[in-house]
Amino acid sequence: MIGNIPIDIRWTPRKRTCILVGLIPCPQKGAKNIDKARHTAVVTVLSQLRRLDITGPGLKWDCADGFQRQCYPLLAAWVGDYPKQVMVAQVSYGSCPMCEIPKGAPMGHSTFRLLNNSRDQHIYSELLEDNHIDPLHTLGVCPICNQVWQYPLCNVYRLWQPDELHQLLLGLVEDLLCWLLKYLKGRNVKDRCYSQSTSVPRYPGLQHFSKRFDSLKSGTWQGKVICGITSTLAVNCAPILLCSKDDGKTAAERVTDEMVMGAVRAFCEFSLLVSQQIHSDLSLNALDDALKRFYLKKGIF
Ligand SMILES: [Zn+2]
Repeated sequence: MIGNIPIDIRWTPRKRTCILVGLIPCPQKGAKNIDKARHTAVVTVLSQLRRLDITGPGLKWDCADGFQRQCYPLLAAWVGDYPKQVMVAQVSYGSCPMCEIPKGAPMGHSTFRLLNNSRDQHIYSELLEDNHIDPLHTLGVCPICNQVWQYPLCNVYRLWQPDELHQLLLGLVEDLLCWLLKYLKGRNVKDRCYSQSTSVPRYPGLQHFSKRFDSLKSGTWQGKVICGITSTLAVNCAPILLCSKDDGKTAAERVTDEMVMGAVRAFCEFSLLVSQQIHSDLSLNALDDALKRFYLKKGIF
């Protein structure tokens, strides 16, 4: 199912936005290896793709324009949120589905080697056969023989689609927010930040916060709340972190505050721009620009 189709259309079977090809088992709550059971079910449903001979003639399929074409059905994308990506790729929950960055390591995604089953599946298989599962855990790869590794021209670690809720809002943005609140506390200005945020006047489309963010435990922050916090975070922090020269800060404090403000502004811009329904060259350039600025300043975190 694709999330950009309105929910009332998506959930009406006669609108035919989705076709039922199989049912995935739904084990009881608390059952072990639920992910593995679902993974096996998905692999079974898609097993025909594994047998396709890509050097052969392929399949003759009718196309919408009335012509018949030679087709090679391949597993090229898996449209699902992060937990569903984890289930198909069989990486450990919380690790990156794309690269070998260790769990909990500070951001620096692009500097780590990409996971690639076409290149490395013999290494994974050997480790599994010899029961050396620790190196696999370090890579974030679950110690099972993933049958999707065998699918022709399929790199299971590149099937993923960006998931704004789990990866951006509940992942990166929440992490950075927690860090920022600790920083503001260390600088003794956390209360000022809260009074700025609760005094933002009500405005259509802006979420109003009458309470401090930390009156909600971070574990209960929902994507909508995080989105609401980021939409005014930069303007709430700017008067605190970017003050005039006679604000009593030392030169070192001023430098770090400016770095933090630069990073906060860049990640707020990035996360707000990314949530647009439609993108253009202009918005993609703005996204690139925000990301570059964030990477320049992120050393402060
Ligand atoms: Zn990564």
